[in-house]
Amino acid sequence: MKEERSKPKTGFFAENMKITDILYKKNMSLSFEVFPPKAETGFDSVKAATEEIAGYKPSFMSVTYGAGGGTSRYTLDSAKNIMDKFSVPTLAHLTCVSSDKATVHERIEELYDAGIENIMALRGDLTPELEKTDRSKWDYRYAVELIRELKESGHDFCIGAACYPEIHPESKDQKNDILHLKEKVDAGADFLTTQMIFDNNLFFNFMYKIREAGITVPVLPGIMPITNANQVERAIKLSGAFMPQRFKSLVDYFGSDPDSMKQAGIAYATDQIIDLYANGITNVHVYSMNKPDIAKAISDNLSDILGKDFGK
Ligand code: FAD
Repeated sequence: MKEERSKPKTGFFAENMKITDILYKKNMSLSFEVFPPKAETGFDSVKAATEEIAGYKPSFMSVTYGAGGGTSRYTLDSAKNIMDKFSVPTLAHLTCVSSDKATVHERIEELYDAGIENIMALRGDLTPELEKTDRSKWDYRYAVELIRELKESGHDFCIGAACYPEIHPESKDQKNDILHLKEKVDAGADFLTTQMIFDNNLFFNFMYKIREAGITVPVLPGIMPITNANQVERAIKLSGAFMPQRFKSLVDYFGSDPDSMKQAGIAYATDQIIDLYANGITNVHVYSMNKPDIAKAISDNLSDILGKDFGK
């Protein structure tokens, strides 16, 4: 892990940049998240979708890591493809809880060798199988351990970590959750991205609390455009996110008509992003879910705002 090699410099690798170089600028930034295919057969369609999204030139793109690491190769391949072909900076996700140390260290070296500079360090969800096993035998229990190992790798990665304005489901209260979040930042997390939020006030309250707790790194609110009614239940189950009445009314009213629901969902997400920008949050992350039409619609809606510095 500690052995240092000279940085690979081929293709656009030398041009990939650290996410923090984007986040500390005053210009409005917008990033998109995509997920890799679950199997070889899906690679071409996912590649086409991620390439189309990259073509809209987001500030950066993040590529998720399949639960349990089953699709790790595809995370790297997708991130590298976006970076090489489109010069869009990429953030590769990496989880640790269902892996052993040797595998995680191998993944870290592969990412480094591929020229990936930005890693989202996550614990990963606890699967029912994992929960049945003896915790004391796990190589990793929390994301903070992965962050420490990324720092110890000797490679100068820019590290992201997850945070939860509505509390992580396993936490007993917000105070403890924020305490553990601070541990991740103290260990080396350079920026944070939130679980999806549908009510900006929850994000603003959270920001107030974490700043009070001494967490000063940039925080990107995560916005999930809901464009069909079936997504709602899944999104709540996944995130436990609060759905404001304004959003529920929109789903009740338009949910039965797919085109109307899509238009309304994109408008709602756009409205949330504009409100965030207007309140001084210059960096926003969109869970674009491999949907180029949604990435395009949101980019178009914000075209006169993105990239500008309003000097405030
Ligand atoms: P941690 O930071 O380890 O926190 C997990 C829980 O443990 C929290 O309740 C925390 O308060 C608590 N905790 C932390 N440290 C301690 C400690 N020292 N003692 C006691 N308790 C502690 N999952 C994937 O599988 N692939 C992905 O690509 C992926 N991307 C994500 C991106 C974002 C922006 C977010 C918000 C989530 C993502 N997830 C992903 C889901 C994530 O893996 C889960 O939410 C997981 O349950 C927690 O991961 P974490 O990194 O936040 O864990």
